[in-house]
Amino acid sequence: NVRLEGIKRRFNNVSAIEDISFEVPDGQFWVLVGPSGCGKSTVLRTIAGLESATEGNLYIGDVLVNNIPARHRDVAMVFQNYALYPHMTVAENIAFGLQMRKVEAKIIRERVQVVAQSLALEHLLDRKPKQLSGGQQQRVALGRAIARQPQVFLLDEPLSNLDAQLRDDTRVELKQLHQKLGITTIYVTHDQTEAMTLGDRIVVLERGRIQQIGAPGSIYAKPANRMVATFLGNPA
Ligand code: ATP
Ligand code: MG
Repeated sequence: NVRLEGIKRRFNNVSAIEDISFEVPDGQFWVLVGPSGCGKSTVLRTIAGLESATEGNLYIGDVLVNNIPARHRDVAMVFQNYALYPHMTVAENIAFGLQMRKVEAKIIRERVQVVAQSLALEHLLDRKPKQLSGGQQQRVALGRAIARQPQVFLLDEPLSNLDAQLRDDTRVELKQLHQKLGITTIYVTHDQTEAMTLGDRIVVLERGRIQQIGAPGSIYAKPANRMVATFLGNPA
């Protein structure tokens, strides 16, 4: 599980997030949504250890990680602007994190297969990144991050550079991959469809504060306020 207790982050006295608390149970897929600048990336970067909280406590698997550096947290993060290793094949890109961790060759081959199958990359394993479309490259970036089966998977608008059709396909594949591996996932998006279809729970943020936490259906039916209604709910 991932637990945030009263997390705040200020940049030179300007508050980016204020008093963020929630707990994601093991294996669930949670989505953070809200308008630009509301603090979504700051929350994610804090969990990854790329940003340190000004106040509050952060637990991963019930361990307090406030003072544990990013590289020692069992967390993988994928950004909007992923970068693959250009000189490596797709298979080598996916295997990279496992090789760094000295995982057995047989297990690496198996993991690469599972990830490639779930993300429709099986026929592309021998290609280099520059021989792939943008959508295929993004799927490799997702595969590379998840192949080592981190305890927590963090995604910051991973589909926003893709065109509408690819975004839909990749979203479905991501959901299938999550169902297969069951890794606790926190996913940031602006996109209502992504939030409604991917999330076990949705956390709605505005100006650094949580407006509502709930299952997609219940937020849609009973938005807590006008902002949530405009963003996700039934605007009637
Ligand atoms: P977007 O949807 O545009 O990506 P976001 O919800 O991810 O937005 P954040 O990037 O978390 O928003 O930023 C939250 C607030 O904190 C913004 O007002 C932003 O300007 C501010 N902020 C973020 N990083 C820094 C920084 N390094 N220095 C100063 N202010 C920052
Ligand atoms: Mg952001």
